[in-house]
Amino acid sequence: MGVDRSVAVVGGGVIGLSCAWALADAGRRVTLVDPDPGRGASWVAGGMLAPVTESWPGEEDALELGTAALAAWPDFAARLTPVGGDPGLRLDGTLAVAVDSADVGTQDLLAGHLAALGREVRRLTARELRAIEPGLGRGVRSGLHVPGDLAVDNRALLASLHNACRRSGVRFVTTAARSVRGGAVDLADESTVECSVVVIAAGARSGRLHPRMSLVRPVKGEILRLRSRPGALPVPTRTIRAHVESRPVYLVPRTTGELVLGATQLDVGFDETVTAGGVRDLLRDAEQVLPGIAEYELVETAAGLRAGSPDNLPLIGWIEPGVLAASGHHRNGLLLAPITAAAVVSLVTGSEVADVVRAADPARFPEVPR
Ligand SMILES: Cc1cc2nc3c(=O)[nH]c(=O)nc-3n(C[C@H](O)[C@H](O)[C@H](O)COP(=O)(O)OP(=O)(O)OC[C@H]3O[C@@H](n4cnc5c(N)ncnc54)[C@H](O)[C@@H]3O)c2cc1C
Repeated sequence: MGVDRSVAVVGGGVIGLSCAWALADAGRRVTLVDPDPGRGASWVAGGMLAPVTESWPGEEDALELGTAALAAWPDFAARLTPVGGDPGLRLDGTLAVAVDSADVGTQDLLAGHLAALGREVRRLTARELRAIEPGLGRGVRSGLHVPGDLAVDNRALLASLHNACRRSGVRFVTTAARSVRGGAVDLADESTVECSVVVIAAGARSGRLHPRMSLVRPVKGEILRLRSRPGALPVPTRTIRAHVESRPVYLVPRTTGELVLGATQLDVGFDETVTAGGVRDLLRDAEQVLPGIAEYELVETAAGLRAGSPDNLPLIGWIEPGVLAASGHHRNGLLLAPITAAAVVSLVTGSEVADVVRAADPARFPEVPR
């Protein structure tokens, strides 16, 4: 009898699809279990690939992991394009801007922290910022240019991964999983998918599938999609991140003329309602950064659930023989998709996992029930 090379991936967001594609490419027989693949938080996300502007003192492991993931992105996109279609990687970089004096203070802190780590950031005056993005509001006082922080069109990426999975022979089962154990996924319709390894990649809902994943919690985020109209200012050329009265807001342009504007961050359980207050706050803060958006069409409001973990690092590794975690990516699942998929392939095939991924080993939480 030959070696059992079957793998079931539970969850078809950006993480599950990336893992499924990479595993199929590595010669595994892959079944992807998801009642609604390509949705979840991945469908809602802003699309920033931004380890530097996401970083914060005390989160150095996340910066290291994110930096390694970002370095993998150009190759990931280049391999994906011929098999799945263009995932919409944008190389234009990011501006981080501050509006009031407290926001300038926050930015000074970030700039000092990044400089101490030897990261490439350039301080810009308000005048220099406006020379790069003429649409910036009068209230913008200073900023940072972070050329290395990129962006991707999350929906183009999901479509591309879906195509790549199909072309690589991934089998899709569109029934929800009820629970996971070594060598099997039990489905809501009482059937079972048997396999040698299960990968749990169900995002914020991963905690419902296995007791070891119970520390993954949902963190709600609301986001808006706007579109420039004839006569209005065009969308900016690069991602703009801001602090407005201490509230973070970001504006991520798409080549389609859309501008994705996000995001709130709330611990409210599995609630995915878009609230009037969330929309108001985002529009008010974004308008201070880019007043021209008042003329744009509001095309979509959405909310998604990030998969939070206690230390904001993902959970990538074995949680019991035959069960791998690939979840808890919180604010950075798009960024971390290539490195997560590569790590999952290494773990399944028994090869060396990149050093930088070891910080994400679920074994760092030994107190969680088995
Ligand atoms: C508003 C917002 C903005 C964000 N912006 C960014 C950003 O700019 N950059 C970035 O890198 N990240 C961003 N994120 C985070 C990013 O979206 C997530 O980290 C990423 O999408 C996680 O992907 P995932 O595949 O783990 O989960 P998801 O995309 O949530 O996918 C989980 C999948 O699991 C499936 N599933 C759930 N339960 C079951 C079950 N029982 N059985 C089978 N399948 C199941 C769901 O149907 C879903 O398809 C943002 C998130 C939000 C909410």
